[in-house]
Amino acid sequence: MSEEQRHRVVVVGGGFGGLNVTKALAHADVDVTVVDRTNHHLFQPLLYQVAAGILPPGLIAPALRGVIRKQKNARALLAEVTDLDLDAHVVRASGPDGRPLELPYDTLVVAGGATHSYFGRDEFARYAPGMKTVEDARHLRDQILLAFEMAELATDPQERAEWLTFVVIGAGPTGVELVGQVAELAHTVLPQDYRAVDTHEARILLLEGAGAVVPPFAPKLQRYTQGRLEAMGVEVRLHSLAVGMDGESVTLKGPDGEETIRTRTRIWAAGVQASPLAAQLAERTGAGTDRAGRIEVNPDCTVPGRPEVFAIGDMVSLDGLPGVAQPAMQEGKYVGKLIKARLAGDERTAPFHYFDKGSMATIGHRAAVADAFGMRFTGVLGYTMWGFVHVLYLIGWGNRLGTVYTWARALTFSHSRGHRIITFEQAHERAFRGPGPVEAPVRGPSRAG
Ligand SMILES: Cc1cc2nc3c(=O)[nH]c(=O)nc-3n(C[C@H](O)[C@H](O)[C@H](O)COP(=O)(O)OP(=O)(O)OC[C@H]3O[C@@H](n4cnc5c(N)ncnc54)[C@H](O)[C@@H]3O)c2cc1C
Repeated sequence: MSEEQRHRVVVVGGGFGGLNVTKALAHADVDVTVVDRTNHHLFQPLLYQVAAGILPPGLIAPALRGVIRKQKNARALLAEVTDLDLDAHVVRASGPDGRPLELPYDTLVVAGGATHSYFGRDEFARYAPGMKTVEDARHLRDQILLAFEMAELATDPQERAEWLTFVVIGAGPTGVELVGQVAELAHTVLPQDYRAVDTHEARILLLEGAGAVVPPFAPKLQRYTQGRLEAMGVEVRLHSLAVGMDGESVTLKGPDGEETIRTRTRIWAAGVQASPLAAQLAERTGAGTDRAGRIEVNPDCTVPGRPEVFAIGDMVSLDGLPGVAQPAMQEGKYVGKLIKARLAGDERTAPFHYFDKGSMATIGHRAAVADAFGMRFTGVLGYTMWGFVHVLYLIGWGNRLGTVYTWARALTFSHSRGHRIITFEQAHERAFRGPGPVEAPVRGPSRAG
């Protein structure tokens, strides 16, 4: 078959799902185009360490074209997909300068992931940023570190207390990881670096609407997590919802009624919703969507009525699987194999079968919870397992070794954080807006997702 006649596979998204499809097609007689609106594959599970100043972004976000450079049948394009024209078999996208692109396909795989959900309170986005992208993590890092700098400058005790109050909303794994890092910064890393302010005075709150932290985990692991957080100085507020906020406060509704807490730093870790591409696919195929906007796909990951179109990962609803990395990776591998089988003339499709490898979350240094293969682990053992698994899944030996080295230096030897840069521009952009809010970058609707 000549190069021009080869089967064209367009993969939307170079995250866990998209990259695994692409790699699974490495030796197939196809041309693969991976189109992503960023130039990198992001290892989201370690994003919180960028927000905490532990890791530089490059170690967890290698360039996509670098990742696939040895795969001669694949190419990467930096463009934002705007339209999936299923009748014409064309993906429409726009380049960074707005130039239109048309990508014809024979097989389409959509793996656009998910974004934050503010549960209908989108106005919270400007006061309580979430964390999904490298920009989000950098923004959070600036905001957290800047709060300590502003506390050092403040002469009014009330203002200082506000800068030293941190509220994380949502006690899922990401909220727990973030709040644990704020507590470590305040109580372990920063105290010796400040002169006017005692960073031990920081008040760190974790709000959770449900009755326990890390809701997907077993009660024993939930109790361990809450106990560790409290020992680290975190106030855990269960059955508590954020019902209002502005630039200097958050109002929560808990078991004792409403309470307003004065704070300059709120972090949103409470919910996710599927990429808008899921809604677009659902509208064009008549497929259903769940409460998180995820499209309901067939057992072989195709969308209804379109055997040549697959959707995978965080943007799909399949067998009640959670929005975590393993389903996206396994679905990606499965779809790659299925495309190869079809090209070989094998139309039998065994449904996707998920192999549950368990789940884990860190709380702080030497403290994590892990639930794997029917066993539950906490403390140093859980932490070691967590570290091993996360390093293993990073892309490239350079990034793995760099991460282990950076961890050893930051967490074990220096008890410091090596990536704490706040530039002049960032400092002035974030802090000196008069009495108004310290605003998060608000994305336009086309960039959400
Ligand atoms: C902070 C955080 C921590 C997490 N921690 C864990 C963890 O510890 N363990 C775990 O298992 N899971 C974790 N997850 C979840 C895990 O990262 C996701 O389940 C996984 O990334 C889903 O893979 P995906 O391919 O569906 O989407 P993603 O990996 O998000 O990839 C989607 C890709 O699509 C691109 N894209 C989106 N829209 C467009 C468009 N219109 N045009 C072009 N490109 C587009 C994006 O840029 C992105 O590269 C975490 C997630 C976050 C945000």
